[in-house]
Amino acid sequence: MTTNQELFDTAREIMPGGVSSPVRAFGSVGGTPAFMVSADGPYLTDAEGTQYVDLVGSWGPALLGHKHPAVIKAVHDAVDAGLGFGTSHPSEARLAELVRRRVPGAEMIRMVSTGTEATMTAIRLARGVTGRNIVVKFAGCYHGHSDGLLAAAGSGVATLGLPGSAGVTEAQASETIVVEYNDRAALEAVFAEHGEHIAAVITEATPANMGVVVPEAGFNSFIREITQRHGALMIFDEVMTGFRITEAGYWGASGRVEGWEPDLFTFGKVIGGGLPTAALAGRREVMEHLAPTGPVYHAGTLSGNPVAMAAGVATLEHATAGVYAHVDQKAQIVADGVTAALSEAGVDHTLQKVGSLFSVAFGTSATGVHNYAHAQAQETFRYGPFFHAMLDAGVYLPPSVFEAWFLSSAHDDAAIGRILEALPGAAKAAAQ
Ligand code: PLP
Repeated sequence: MTTNQELFDTAREIMPGGVSSPVRAFGSVGGTPAFMVSADGPYLTDAEGTQYVDLVGSWGPALLGHKHPAVIKAVHDAVDAGLGFGTSHPSEARLAELVRRRVPGAEMIRMVSTGTEATMTAIRLARGVTGRNIVVKFAGCYHGHSDGLLAAAGSGVATLGLPGSAGVTEAQASETIVVEYNDRAALEAVFAEHGEHIAAVITEATPANMGVVVPEAGFNSFIREITQRHGALMIFDEVMTGFRITEAGYWGASGRVEGWEPDLFTFGKVIGGGLPTAALAGRREVMEHLAPTGPVYHAGTLSGNPVAMAAGVATLEHATAGVYAHVDQKAQIVADGVTAALSEAGVDHTLQKVGSLFSVAFGTSATGVHNYAHAQAQETFRYGPFFHAMLDAGVYLPPSVFEAWFLSSAHDDAAIGRILEALPGAAKAAAQ
């Protein structure tokens, strides 16, 4: 048997940090990453044969759990028909139709391969449509790793404590204005000063990359209102929330506020069913600015890949109301368990939750966590011991306090029971 340590040593020798994406390296929690070799239902198994209840869910895509039979069958059938054609094929429009049916405002859809590509293309489209340069984003929101969007970004950028990224030029950074989340006055001030140059405001529908942060009542509709007032576009990044947060429908968090739609959405994760697919979507008149109908260029060798489309179609077809009810209920049970265990151990915290997405923030009860400054001010040192106690008890949490926890429809009572059993010990570890 090759151990996790041996695999990590080999990987580090040949890959920067031993990983293909930074947070996987366990940098902020310490220790050796588990090298997973298989996934089934709510479980992951590592190279040493240890099984874990998975609360990462492939960072979001695994709404139906791992290896859902219908998704696996659809993928097998697609593979049997060929790995890719480099042409149009029927299942792209099928997936697009499934998105459109559930998301008011998603009139046209362009398939891409990653969430990063979706937001990057949405920004280019917004600039192309408005003829303006500046993009406004919120501190702690993560929209992938394209240059202009790395300023004050969440996710791995937050985990590593980086102000942004080396390699992003000043020219690019100067075209991104960063505003504190949930701060209407700050957004109002930015528009007062730069309004005529702002192409778009991009926001996570519900921020979940600085841990989960709840949008204050009316904040998303305020963004809609102020962008409309100044002729800028609103880009609603639903890469994380899309087809996962369900409080007001089957789509993402936009459904939480009735009566308005953003100009553009971005989707990823769940719509790819575990394979590399993402999308941008929006009003027809905006989307038709994309090539070949319009002048804004976007293309992709693997965009709309048939195997990925098959996984996405099967996933959305099986993402029924029953699935969402199950995931929401299990998320509530786990979230309540976290709160109870930490309270019992005397660990100050807030449990940040929107729909089935949640995360814990240590030492934050005095302020709550309403923005990135609050999230960064938390006692991050408590998460490493908490994480490792859970790992030792066979529960795989995100290896960063700034990431959300993901449940799936495959998390049954046995899996939830294992999580609940592990929590008191982890809470004690966090208390030290
Ligand atoms: N937007 C949001 C809200 C995300 O959470 C992520 C990834 O976590 C992205 C964009 C980038 O997606 P990808 O990692 O597929 O490039």
